[in-house]
Amino acid sequence: MKSLLLLAFLIFLLGFLPEENNVMPVDGASTKDWNQQSFWYYPWGLSGVHKGIDIFAKKGTPVRAATGGIVLYSGSYGRGGKVVYMLGANWRFHYFAHLNNVSVPWYRVVSAGEQIGTVGTTGNAQGKSPHLHYTIKSVFPRIWAYRHGTYAAWQRTFYLDPGKFLRGAPQ
Ligand SMILES: [Zn+2]
Repeated sequence: MKSLLLLAFLIFLLGFLPEENNVMPVDGASTKDWNQQSFWYYPWGLSGVHKGIDIFAKKGTPVRAATGGIVLYSGSYGRGGKVVYMLGANWRFHYFAHLNNVSVPWYRVVSAGEQIGTVGTTGNAQGKSPHLHYTIKSVFPRIWAYRHGTYAAWQRTFYLDPGKFLRGAPQ
């Protein structure tokens, strides 16, 4: 039992070793290509609250891994359409949705800036302007980020504002 706990702790520490990068996941995009207020915007259709940002770009624009990691899932997934779901450094999941096409298989280790697909309108982005939906979710709650009075405040502690992340701003 003790050795299992130690192993779990070592694996936990390992997750913090890789360097975390902040690469713009859409080629040529800048901060004006998404609404700064859109993260954790409520109400947001069937999702309830918007857990990420939407980076608008022309259909077919390359989408790149914002940080290095391992692809846990790539393919079609519900309202996300064609998606890539990665685990990156610091135990953070990175979710890229509404892709026109996906170009990385499951379990591929990708480095920051590597192309993983292209911008599209799949899933519930159908009929809307092409954009990349980008969400960053922590495996562990970031209790220091708890803000009383925020919509779904506890759930909010698991999510990072991708806009701040891409600027390398603390949060
Ligand atoms: Zn979105």
